[in-house]
Amino acid sequence: MKPTDTADPGYFHKVVDCQWACPAHTPVPEYIRLIAQGRNADAYMVNWVSNVFPGVLGRTCDRPCEPACRRGRVEENNRAQPEPVAICRLKRVAADHKGDVRSRMPAIGPKNGKRVACVGAGPASLTVARDLAPLGYEVTIFDGEAKAGGFIRSQIPRFRLPEAVIDEETGYILDMGVEFRSGQRVQSMRSLLNQGYDAIFVGCGAPRGRDLDLPGRREAADHVQIGIDWLASVSFGHITSSAKRVIVLGGGNTAMDCCRSARRLGSTDVKVIVRSGFAEMKASPWEKEDALHEGIPILNFHVPKAFVHENGKLTGMRFDVVEAVYDGHGKRTLVSTGEPEAFVECDAVLIAVGQENAFPWIESDVGIAFDKWGLPVLDGSTFQSTLERVFFGGDAAYGPKNIITAVAHGHEAAVSIDRFVHAQDVRVRPAPTTNLMSTKMGIHEWTYHNDV
Ligand SMILES: Cc1cc2nc3c(=O)[nH]c(=O)nc-3n(C[C@H](O)[C@H](O)[C@H](O)COP(=O)(O)OP(=O)(O)OC[C@H]3O[C@@H](n4cnc5c(N)ncnc54)[C@H](O)[C@@H]3O)c2cc1C
Ligand code: SF4
Repeated sequence: MKPTDTADPGYFHKVVDCQWACPAHTPVPEYIRLIAQGRNADAYMVNWVSNVFPGVLGRTCDRPCEPACRRGRVEENNRAQPEPVAICRLKRVAADHKGDVRSRMPAIGPKNGKRVACVGAGPASLTVARDLAPLGYEVTIFDGEAKAGGFIRSQIPRFRLPEAVIDEETGYILDMGVEFRSGQRVQSMRSLLNQGYDAIFVGCGAPRGRDLDLPGRREAADHVQIGIDWLASVSFGHITSSAKRVIVLGGGNTAMDCCRSARRLGSTDVKVIVRSGFAEMKASPWEKEDALHEGIPILNFHVPKAFVHENGKLTGMRFDVVEAVYDGHGKRTLVSTGEPEAFVECDAVLIAVGQENAFPWIESDVGIAFDKWGLPVLDGSTFQSTLERVFFGGDAAYGPKNIITAVAHGHEAAVSIDRFVHAQDVRVRPAPTTNLMSTKMGIHEWTYHNDV
């Protein structure tokens, strides 16, 4: 076994598994201990420093920390279904019981004369603004929407995330003297570059929902919608009802939000239909569970073949029934079972089969290189693009992921921007600031509260 290199501070950073697994390295044991002591405001602020949106994430985080939780390993020996500590939901406990934390927000330092533009007001850009504004930066955020939050506001349904929580946590950042240019879509990177910003952060997300070009799609277009566009219309109140019988295509989180929203908007027969098996679906286990609890069946191993319509009126969809076949290397292929095609009746279809990045506003000759998948060519640790003044983060950097990853990118990009505008090498990164004292459980904590 390789001896532990205790001279590497990164080693100590990894000691607490859940904290290491959280992309923003939230000090999980520290804040859970604070909650146990009834110090909810302190617990909230410990979270806020790392993950910026504790109230939002306490309701919606994808929770990469929880599979890493050691409690799960302890329980493996005791229970059929080992459960980790409810790290995510405890964040919500702290957020809901914290009281007023405004006085704890950082003071804003004197202006340092540096101007930074952020494109998009999602969690990635807001994190950049949160990290830089207190240092005296003049941060301007542009977004085509009226309010800040990005997909947090436009995609995640209100029954999972109340708007008041989004307003509160985006408000803490915008109140730091950040200029929010709402309703202003950036149409040209070249013109933004010409506005003299010292650095530009692109946090415009992955805004395009994938379509399915199948027979009947065009004819039945009035009854078929792209899931993320439909969810945005629901969020903004443009859609207030849903057809009686709805098929949701796809097995990710968007599909789960579509089916559960359709149910709430009056659909009586909602089915989720997925190409893959149940276990391979991309949706989080708890989202699948919630959909099933709401009486929404999930049909697996059904590959869509055609939209069936009568003179443009959708009547259903045809599917090839498949099974998974694995080769010697574990590579999966979906092979038709040979059964007759399945026909599922419906009045409307929501397509939730993935998102794509799109940068139509970045001119091809401004010096920002893109790879063959249409993603920006970036330095993996600094998030700097091939145009040194421009940084990317969140879904715009490496494709659709989740809020906490966008936050983590935002922190890294903010560090890079701070170094870049001060003519320092962006590749030299500050050492991790893990404080093991905060995660250590002292003997007194056991003895003091022990009645025996
Ligand atoms: C249906 C759905 C449900 C989800 N649920 C969850 C969940 O429960 N938990 C989770 O962790 N993640 C979830 N996600 C993913 C999460 O929302 C995203 O990963 C995250 O919001 C990405 O953050 P971002 O800052 O990169 O961009 P976004 O949040 O996408 O924000 C980008 C912003 O940029 C703006 N913009 C785009 N182009 C321009 C332009 N040219 N000029 C100005 N503004 C522009 C857009 O209007 C948008 O407001 C979900 C995604 C979807 C689609
Ligand atoms: S932000 Fe998400 S990943 Fe990080 S500790 Fe909290 S629940 Fe876990």
